Amino acid sequence: EKPRLLDDGEGGVLFFSSSYSSSSGFGFSSTEKQRQRLPVYKYRTAILYLVETHATTIIVGETGSGKTTQIPQFLKEAGWADGGRVIACTQPRRLAVQAVASRVAEEMGVKLGEEVGYTIRFEDLTNPDVTRVKFLTDGVLLREMMDDPLLTKYSVIMVDEAHERSISTDMLLGLLKKIQRRRPDLRLIISSATIEAKSMSTFFQMSKRRRALEGETFEPKVEPAILSVEGRGFNVQIFYLEEPVSDYVQSAVSTVLSIHEQEPPGDILVFLTGQDDIDAAVQLIVEEGQNDRKRSELIILPLYSGLSRAEQDLIFSPTPRGKRKVVISTNIAETSLTLEGIVYVIDSGFSKQRFYNPITDIESLIVAPISKASARQRTGRAGRIRPGKCYRLYTEEYFINEMPAEGIPEMQRSNLVTCVIQEPMISKMILASGELGCSEEIMTIAAILSIQSIWASSRGAQKELDEARLRFAAAEGDHVTFLNVYKGFLQSNKSSQWCHKNFINYQAMKKVMEVREQLRRIAQRLGIILKSCERDTTAIRKAVTAGFFANACQLEAYSHNGMYKTVRGSQEVYIHPSSVLFRVNPKWVIYHSLVSTDRQYMRNVVTIDPGWLTEIAPHFYQQRQLSHMPH
Ligand code: ADP
Ligand code: MG
Repeated sequence: EKPRLLDDGEGGVLFFSSSYSSSSGFGFSSTEKQRQRLPVYKYRTAILYLVETHATTIIVGETGSGKTTQIPQFLKEAGWADGGRVIACTQPRRLAVQAVASRVAEEMGVKLGEEVGYTIRFEDLTNPDVTRVKFLTDGVLLREMMDDPLLTKYSVIMVDEAHERSISTDMLLGLLKKIQRRRPDLRLIISSATIEAKSMSTFFQMSKRRRALEGETFEPKVEPAILSVEGRGFNVQIFYLEEPVSDYVQSAVSTVLSIHEQEPPGDILVFLTGQDDIDAAVQLIVEEGQNDRKRSELIILPLYSGLSRAEQDLIFSPTPRGKRKVVISTNIAETSLTLEGIVYVIDSGFSKQRFYNPITDIESLIVAPISKASARQRTGRAGRIRPGKCYRLYTEEYFINEMPAEGIPEMQRSNLVTCVIQEPMISKMILASGELGCSEEIMTIAAILSIQSIWASSRGAQKELDEARLRFAAAEGDHVTFLNVYKGFLQSNKSSQWCHKNFINYQAMKKVMEVREQLRRIAQRLGIILKSCERDTTAIRKAVTAGFFANACQLEAYSHNGMYKTVRGSQEVYIHPSSVLFRVNPKWVIYHSLVSTDRQYMRNVVTIDPGWLTEIAPHFYQQRQLSHMPH
């Protein structure tokens, strides 16, 4: 195959091709027929037999073969949810939990939240009396273990997407192995797209036979079963860049437009890394395609966590005749969600990954190169309904010689504190707010901080957004600014027009209300006094300090570019441009989180009095770095 030029003029993208084969496909028909055509359907009896007879069953199968949506239904049909028991299926991602739960409810013809439900952090759509098939994040199941260490209500727990090696999945696998020794009735299914099935099997091999419990008649085999589900393949042709590019967003956009110009119908799936670059790409396609008569045929859909149900539905709904869907996604579409109709995949070669530096004690989300295993998964998404094409925005030489074969498990690149103690900083902040008499305000702040962003960013009008933000800005910083937004929202009677006018994301605000309500209930149960401080921002900022004292930073004395140093590690950090304190640069601040791009940026920043640090967190600060601190 000769190299092909996929674009004319400047910004041209030149690709070389090679070949790859991928998974099965099928057309559209009635739900039941669709179910029967999925590769796992043929294995229904085998799966049920293995689960019956083995404590652990490991199932490996191509993305889209029906593992997540079908296996829980098989189990239900076979009686594993009888007698009030529950079948659980975990996912590393919240959006995947919502999407598959709603799909399974639809296939079973039941209302979501009844027989089929889901639980993610801050959102519980289950009814303990009737829910029999429950989808949840691995993190939520870990949390449930605190109240019920043996997870007694579950008959089968399917740990899905195990190949992702998310930190919560790994924790869960370790703890489930322990639970198994005490609960011979419990069955585990470990499922994934690609996995080292042998090492997983070795891990779950039970070393010693338990003593049979009284009245026990049947014991499952201690040796895990391994089942591999075959998919039927369509070829995917791979194209590489001839030269590396510096701007993968621009390059992805050019490739989308060229495919649309030159290639026959079929939807496009673009892998970028997060809300920022995805929104930027959407914006660019709209702008660059403006003078293009064919442009109106494109339906451009971003896909990242935090999308509303309606937005999710659009992603999954079939493409109308004469149109071409362009889904611009994080790596959630790599294996967690399968979109029908994709024929072209554009792979930026990057994803957002968590990295922890134990020396500086800083954990950040970084845009980092993906592994070969991920690249192959992404490519496979193009071959679902017919032969497809995958455009890799990197060179073949890079793929072969530099891309790592496998990713590093999240556990090896995270700060383990949050695993051992679940969200300690927010909790401490809320507890302190009870004593400081500002719990109502802190509850609002905590709810907003739990949401990615309350600002409507995707409309691309950066200047207007900045102006809107200024209308709410408080000199004390972002946390107090949030209170102004929340107050305005309540005064507008929670109006969506008001949100639109002020560049606030209405869906996010609704979520804030929900989370806040949940936090209030928890606080009430714990006996925290619910009280408003009537805008005593000192009390509010002290409560924030009580939780986040470890994130205190001081402006460098002679810094002209707003450089701060963290008090604890003397790391260079800067205020993020999205903060109301950007360019204001007060002397002492506390940040909520860090994002790394070219520099370490502090997101959500509040001003403090340095004296509070020794007052509120003497155990941390007394004899330490603050000896030079002015009082
Ligand atoms: P696997 O877990 O093996 O990757 P899934 O069970 O997720 O496979 O997917 C099986 C099929 O169900 C796929 O054809 C997929 O497109 C379809 N599907 C899954 N979720 C949805 C949804 N929310 N809406 C429409 N189709 C869906
Ligand atoms: Mg799946």
